[in-house]
Amino acid sequence: MGLQIAIDGPAASGKSTIAKLLAERLGFEHLNTGATYRAVAVYLKEKGLNPFSSREELEKALKDVNVDYRDGRVFINGEDYTEKIQCPEAGILASDFAKLDLVRQHLVRIQREICDDKNIVVEGRDIGTVVLPNAQLKIFLTASLEARIERKLREYQKKGLNVSREEVEKELISRDTQDSSRKIAPLKPAEDAVVIDTTSMSVNEVLQKILKLVEERMKV
Ligand code: C5P
Repeated sequence: MGLQIAIDGPAASGKSTIAKLLAERLGFEHLNTGATYRAVAVYLKEKGLNPFSSREELEKALKDVNVDYRDGRVFINGEDYTEKIQCPEAGILASDFAKLDLVRQHLVRIQREICDDKNIVVEGRDIGTVVLPNAQLKIFLTASLEARIERKLREYQKKGLNVSREEVEKELISRDTQDSSRKIAPLKPAEDAVVIDTTSMSVNEVLQKILKLVEERMKV
């Protein structure tokens, strides 16, 4: 088995920034499982499906869905979905489809295949609890709603997306509530996760704290 680091937490808690930097520092690979949920949700919508479609229809569509994640980009059946999954609507759609057991089973299997035997940093909502329960290090990042709204707003601005503060607040509250309260694989820290509140920490402070944990707990 490779060395695996799980990073979970609510939307805009800093997972992607930290996971990328950490992977770079350690020479590990990186998997953003949120991108896989977003891409599959957008793909299913393009096929005319929605979260209330019948099991048969969803099963049939998912059978043909191959997901690839390379160098920070996500592909569905070879097509690059990275750009079209960045908007708030894709996040909300992903959260709606992520409640379904069929979607989760399909993606958890693919995510585990991607991780197999690799040294990898994996970010998401259920990595420490479901996808990689044996990960050598599990981190759960949190931050106040205010801090997360600010971060998400800046992220959208950087990407050139015109989204208001009110829209961001609505998006985060709606996704976090849905992600934490769903029956299957809800967002929650694994029992053995280290919880880090990043509200008043800089990116570098969070990174240094995790690197210290890596040094203490893993033989890298
Ligand atoms: O991480 P990101 O915000 O891009 O994730 C989009 C949505 O995908 C989340 O709101 C959540 O509903 C879903 N997701 C999930 N399990 C994961 C990663 C993401 O349910 N491991």
